[in-house]
Amino acid sequence: MTLAYIALGSNLGYPQQQLLDAMHALASLPDTRVLKHSPLYRTPPWGMLEQPPFINAAVQVETALSPHGLLDALLEIEQRAGRVRAERNGPRTLDLDLLHVDGVQLDDARLTLPHPRMAERAFVLLPLHDIAPTLQLPGQGTVAELLARLDLAGCEKLP
Ligand code: ADP
Ligand code: MG
Repeated sequence: MTLAYIALGSNLGYPQQQLLDAMHALASLPDTRVLKHSPLYRTPPWGMLEQPPFINAAVQVETALSPHGLLDALLEIEQRAGRVRAERNGPRTLDLDLLHVDGVQLDDARLTLPHPRMAERAFVLLPLHDIAPTLQLPGQGTVAELLARLDLAGCEKLP
């Protein structure tokens, strides 16, 4: 079994419900348990600014799936949530990114681990910090150290 960390995001449809549904879908994957989940956050859009705010969260899972097996499962859950891939950084019903898998560093055509853009994204590190503040990203520092460098303007924890 390995520990893996997944970021969840949505800004189309019913984002809060879609994130909760996605957490249930993750919990129902074969040989997989959700050990921790963060609160939900509302965060400003990134990249393409003219779109609704995002709801973001992060989970820690324990899984027997391989990193690529887990990625396939995430893409399938996105598809079932009605994800249509349009513009890069554009609005989406559900985005599931594999952030980190304990002990794994890889970079191939389908998967890069740790996720290459997580260290500069408050919407990823803020919820991840709630469940894994001391997690080390190889060569980059801990989640807490990386988060301390970011601007959290406009990010709010939902009740
Ligand atoms: P983004 O999340 O950056 O907006 P997408 O969700 O459209 O982009 O993902 C595009 C592709 O990124 C996926 O099909 C997947 O193959 C690839 N990818 C590479 N590394 C990762 C990772 N760590 N987590 C999720 N997807 C990844
Ligand atoms: Mg993605």
